[in-house]
Amino acid sequence: MLKKHFLYSLLLSFFFFSCSSDETSMETSVRKYIITFTAGEGGTVSTIGGEYELGQTVNVTAIPREGYIFKDWSDGNTDSTRVILVNGNLNLIANFEVPSDFDSISNTVLLRQVVYGADSQGGEVEVVVEERVSVTAISGSRHKVFENNEIFYIIQLNEDNNVVYGEDGTGRFFMTSHNEMPQLIDNHILSDVNLNMEVYYSNAQHPHDSNAPSEAYEYIWDNGDEGVIGGKQFIASKFKNTEKYGTPVDVSAVKFGNKWRAQSNSDSDYGPITELVYKELATLTYKDIIFEYEVDLYNGEEDFLEKIKPNFDKVYENLNGTNAIDNLNTIYIYGGRTYTCGGESKCDENIGYIWCFTTIPDVGLYTHEIGHTWSLRAESPVDWDKWQFFLENYYCSDYALQNETEYFAEAFMCYFSGQQLLIDFPNQYQLTNPVREQLDLLFN
Ligand SMILES: [Zn+2]
Repeated sequence: MLKKHFLYSLLLSFFFFSCSSDETSMETSVRKYIITFTAGEGGTVSTIGGEYELGQTVNVTAIPREGYIFKDWSDGNTDSTRVILVNGNLNLIANFEVPSDFDSISNTVLLRQVVYGADSQGGEVEVVVEERVSVTAISGSRHKVFENNEIFYIIQLNEDNNVVYGEDGTGRFFMTSHNEMPQLIDNHILSDVNLNMEVYYSNAQHPHDSNAPSEAYEYIWDNGDEGVIGGKQFIASKFKNTEKYGTPVDVSAVKFGNKWRAQSNSDSDYGPITELVYKELATLTYKDIIFEYEVDLYNGEEDFLEKIKPNFDKVYENLNGTNAIDNLNTIYIYGGRTYTCGGESKCDENIGYIWCFTTIPDVGLYTHEIGHTWSLRAESPVDWDKWQFFLENYYCSDYALQNETEYFAEAFMCYFSGQQLLIDFPNQYQLTNPVREQLDLLFN
């Protein structure tokens, strides 16, 4: 103690002797520090700081701009207003953020909903309203449930606790509903890939419709990389109540962010999903048509082509000289299992796509599906009123008799490649002269 005190006196003495003005030198010896406050994106600070003396206090408040909330200071403190005791240089940044849709304090979610209103002509218009709704947590899930009028909807939240809306063009927050609080259940869905799936289940009488299905399953699973999971794509589905496989369309999944969402009811024809088939696919081009097929089912490209060529060559030959195949772009051949239907077709504007659910499609299947794409394309000359008259007056096939929308495709098939069918199944197919003449007008 003594030693230290002595040293201090010595220093002071030295100081006094070497300076000309004692008063100002005493002042500069008081410690001063630089304190700065800056605001990150989304707000301002009440002071930018300055030079302060040791022991002084500085008040500062972080002020968020509209649409933002204060998050924290760069030192981790979460009080928007602070009293800083000056004891060193300090640089603090106020951080702001856009608030999450989910507020954990009030247990509410900000929801954008489409409601129906009346326009000036008395018609119905869709109006988007924003509303903060009370939600309930689902055990084991990050998603929340919103109840409205005894109907329960799962609100899907992302990692930032924001609502994930569907990407089907309607921007809807839900596509499924439950008659009671849904529970997250462990329900294994068979697949070649890891689906990373959550299955929710509810079972209660519908409050307004006693005939409505009671057992409801809701599925939320990974979309993968643009629909590809582990190099494989979703090509088929299976449900508990069906022996056969359906297409991805049967699942009616809607994309919500990086997930798919779908629902099924145990009381429906299909029942709960039991399997989603994901397979590796390959493509090749033959006669200007893109073919996509399951890699597992063929020994390479050559083997695939060798197997499908005879029937497709025949189709190509039958349709040759007409524009019947001009719109066809891609043929998907997904086989290896028994499907609920033989094929499907789609037309985007004038570009046609067909799916054949068999390993080696026959001439009739190709032709029937091409008939759909040709007739449903944007520039189709098909007069549907005229064809309505034909389907009401002339038998074409048993299938068309049961499904009106199949009439044209069936007539098209019989016209181009149905002679064999007519001979083999005389009671199932007939191409009457008035129908043939109508097709002659389109293709001759
Ligand atoms: Zn069809």
